[in-house]
Amino acid sequence: MTLQVTRATFDEVMVPNYAPSAIIPVRGEGSRVWDKEGKEYVDFAGGIAVTGLGHCHPTLVNVMREQAGQLWHLSNVMTNEPALRLAKKLTEKTFADRVFFANSGAEANEAAFKLARRYAFDHFGPEKHEIIAFNKSFHGRTLFTVSVGGQAKYKEGFEPTPGGIKHCDYNDIEQLKAIISDKTCAVVIEPIQGEGGVIPGDIEFAQQVRALCDQHNALLVCDEVQSGVGRTGTLFAHEQLGIKPDILTTAKALGNGFPVAAMLATEEAAKSLAVGTHGSTYGGNPMACAVAEAVLDIVDTPEVLGGVQHRHDLFVAGLTAINDKYHVFKDIRGMGLLMGAEVVDQLAGKAGEIIKAGAEEGVFVLVAGPNVLRLAPSLIITDEDIADGLARLEKAIATVVANHPVA
Ligand SMILES: *Cc1c(COP(=O)(O)O)cnc(C)c1O
Repeated sequence: MTLQVTRATFDEVMVPNYAPSAIIPVRGEGSRVWDKEGKEYVDFAGGIAVTGLGHCHPTLVNVMREQAGQLWHLSNVMTNEPALRLAKKLTEKTFADRVFFANSGAEANEAAFKLARRYAFDHFGPEKHEIIAFNKSFHGRTLFTVSVGGQAKYKEGFEPTPGGIKHCDYNDIEQLKAIISDKTCAVVIEPIQGEGGVIPGDIEFAQQVRALCDQHNALLVCDEVQSGVGRTGTLFAHEQLGIKPDILTTAKALGNGFPVAAMLATEEAAKSLAVGTHGSTYGGNPMACAVAEAVLDIVDTPEVLGGVQHRHDLFVAGLTAINDKYHVFKDIRGMGLLMGAEVVDQLAGKAGEIIKAGAEEGVFVLVAGPNVLRLAPSLIITDEDIADGLARLEKAIATVVANHPVA
């Protein structure tokens, strides 16, 4: 018999680093999810910007079944067909010439930061090792990636952390000018900050970052772990900022929930990860790569990418209508289907309460910090699911406003 578990089991057996909701989802289809009690939810969260093609997409289920019956794992001492097919497609569709596979966003970033250091070491010497990243940025939870990330709370108590890292404000080119130098080996940027509050990068800022990198022989690393694979309406978000990175990382939506990540690089940069310099046991495993190849085939089509803006507009119109009634948001922003709604000062710190009320009403949404509701639904969510989910979100907001009147 299957062991029965409840929410209480979490508190008995799990390390307490998460605080999951009491809901126990057991099944998903498209943008709908059902819990153990049979209650249905509209999913505007997509995991955390992961299930870009919704739950149990039939093509992906088939690809995974097929690969599962064929071959699960090879080490990187073998030539791996699914990995090479995926790498070929990634290089054909992007600026990149070379690919390294990993299993998570943090690992892809770890590879990117190591490559940036190694490239500078090879070409300019050990003095050129400084990495510049932006305040509020998020790059993962390994020691190196929390150190590059711009949120002090994720480093607290884990010191000593790796050195040679500097931070300045996002979208503020003067601050970057003040700290970039010939000791800088890389500037790391999210084209739209996700965890930091859903803050889109300014086009002019991004282009000046690129120019400063060129001026100082620093590599530009785009962290597209959250913004990549169609999320913003282009395959990668940097395309909309008119910049070309030297290194790019992608993960979340790449496997639609099956763990896979990739670091993409130019030929010139990639050379510095020579044989033996870096590696991963699972990175590029055939299951992950077979699924990711199918994800890429589906996402990189006019039907999927071209439908993102229409859905974005429906969400913005819906959120604006809610706001006209309840006056809860001071800003509604985002790119494509990575959207943020920042609550008014009277509701400061209450974004979490809205997502709890949302789950009660049958809609999953996310936060990005204490004051921003974040939406990252499937790229192929139907108009009907959008309307249903927004109606549920409106009810949730009505409840929260009843408890905390805003005016
Ligand atoms: C989620 C995220 C990461 C970390 O990815 P993991 O798979 O959790 O390691 C890194 N960068 C950005 C921008 C992210 O949103």
